[in-house]
Amino acid sequence: MSALDAALPFDFEHRARAALESERRLTVGIVGFGTFGQFLARRLAVAGHRVLATSRGDYGAAARAMGVEYFRGDADAFCEEHPEVVVLATSILSAERVLRALPVQRLKRSTLFVDVLSVKAFPKQLLLRLLPPETDVLCTHPMFGPDSGRGSWSGLNLMYERVRVLSAAEDGPRREARAAAFLRFFAEEGCRMVEMPCEEHDRVAASTQFITHTVGRVLGAMDLRATAIDTKGYQALLELVDNTRNDSFELYYGLFLYNRASAAELERLERALDTVKGGLFDELHEIARRQIFPPSPRGGSPEGSGSDADGGGGGGADEVAAELLPPRGGGGAAAFLDDGGDGGGESDGGGGRRARANGGGGGGRALPSGAPQRRLGDGGGGTRR
Ligand code: NAP
Repeated sequence: MSALDAALPFDFEHRARAALESERRLTVGIVGFGTFGQFLARRLAVAGHRVLATSRGDYGAAARAMGVEYFRGDADAFCEEHPEVVVLATSILSAERVLRALPVQRLKRSTLFVDVLSVKAFPKQLLLRLLPPETDVLCTHPMFGPDSGRGSWSGLNLMYERVRVLSAAEDGPRREARAAAFLRFFAEEGCRMVEMPCEEHDRVAASTQFITHTVGRVLGAMDLRATAIDTKGYQALLELVDNTRNDSFELYYGLFLYNRASAAELERLERALDTVKGGLFDELHEIARRQIFPPSPRGGSPEGSGSDADGGGGGGADEVAAELLPPRGGGGAAAFLDDGGDGGGESDGGGGRRARANGGGGGGRALPSGAPQRRLGDGGGGTRR
């Protein structure tokens, strides 16, 4: 067999592979080249797709560095390149304005539009309303970003809904193949592909993603710092604060404004905090009451026994108790607990309900209501240890 004959099968294989590659290789145009647009573009380019992008910002150098063709503020030139897939990656708040301004008439009528907005029912309606009916629409939400997906995307969730992809019977096999190729990009990056209606996504995301962002921002507002004795749980909280801080406020506000389930979840979070606080203060109230009014050894009324819970002389009347006790229901800011001193059971801060009331050791002083709130034990900040 000649060397030429031996090379033939390899050549065939090479050409077949090249044909397959070119089928899989998409021209993807990204509209909105901010944090997430760039994050996505980089991976698409590395995976071998041709990537174009348009945005307002001066991202030319960043685009060049990742092999992306950038059209700053020039949506016409961007569309003239006829990307097969257009990914809407602008902020949620600007999505409608940006889509309306896009010269869609310059694109092929069969273009596949994809969005990556972190809310889903809103862009689904928007795309269906504003785009010509010949276009395909795929709504996605990569449930990760530049922080959580910094290294590998393996195991990270990618939610999607094929909102409108013309079938093979309607327009040949290429549209389905193109949508499949775009989704395959995420699957090959290791994402866990979750097909779900956009409306269900929003219901679920309000109580997961929106609450995560909210708690991260609340803790961020507390200006928490690393210490020498951090627990694992506390470190996880600091990490959450860090991840949240890197997302724009606009993104967070979009999660609130454009997901109708978010407001109710925010209220649920507030009520839950009140319930937890209430549990603490109710417990405290009972302990303090038992100390102020210990059961009389003679079985008489504690008020009449002349006992003095506070270590000093006199008092013991209901008015004193009313003044000393924090209001029921967790509304009070007065701290009845003292994490110093000796004697008495005291909170270990690890989420236990043990508390040392009234300074412990029998000689403690109750703080007047309105005194600055004290921490229970060392607090530790951690739920997990
Ligand atoms: P973002 O603040 O939500 O969006 C920034 C992008 O929106 C930039 O491309 C910016 O363009 C563009 N933009 C903002 N206002 C605009 C306006 N008035 N007109 C035109 N463009 C405007 O931050 P992001 O993190 O990059 O998110 C982009 C999208 O991805 C959002 O829809 C978000 O929900 C989604 N997403 C984000 C993450 C994440 O972890 N960050 C994860 C999944 C999905 P210029 O920079 O050119 O001004």
